[in-house]
Parts: sequence; C-alpha cells; structure tokens
Amino acid sequence: MKPQIDLEKCIGCGACVPVCPAEPKVLAMEETGAGPKSKAANPQNCIACNACVSACPVQAIKLVE
Ligand code: SF4
Ligand code: SF4
Repeated sequence: MKPQIDLEKCIGCGACVPVCPAEPKVLAMEETGAGPKSKAANPQNCIACNACVSACPVQAIKLVE
C-alpha cells in the first residue's frame, strides 16, 4: 500500500509528514504552483499504518495498492 494525496483537498499543513514511522519517511512536502503539497516521496517504505490518514485534517490521503 502507499498513500495517495488528493491535491485539490491538501491544504499543505504538513501534519502527515512527521507521524510516519517509516525511515526515510514516505511523505514529504513539495512546493507547487498551488502552494505546498504533500507527496509520496518514498512510497515503497509505506507499512500501511494509517497514521498519515488519521493525521490529515481534510481527509486528503487514502491508501492505495
Ligand atoms: S500509512 Fe503509515 S507508513 Fe504509510 S505513509 Fe502513512 S504514516 Fe507512513
Ligand atoms: S495532512 Fe493532509 S492537508 Fe496536511 S499536508 Fe498532509 S495531505 Fe496535505
């Protein structure tokens, strides 16, 4: 599994990055034309713990195959 970010919903708060137990962390913030957004920088490290999904205040993350 790996996180998929809905960029329309993501408000760039960064809450999903530090909660990830993987090392290196799966998610990272990226500057985009629409402001900072979360992205799956290391998707292969995801252990599907759901912490990022729970941390997101706007339900922008879902886990996908
Ligand atoms: S589900 Fe867990 S391991 Fe996967 S990206 Fe989210 S916080 Fe990290
Ligand atoms: S927690 Fe949600 S809104 Fe905040 S940066 Fe991550 S995906 Fe975007």
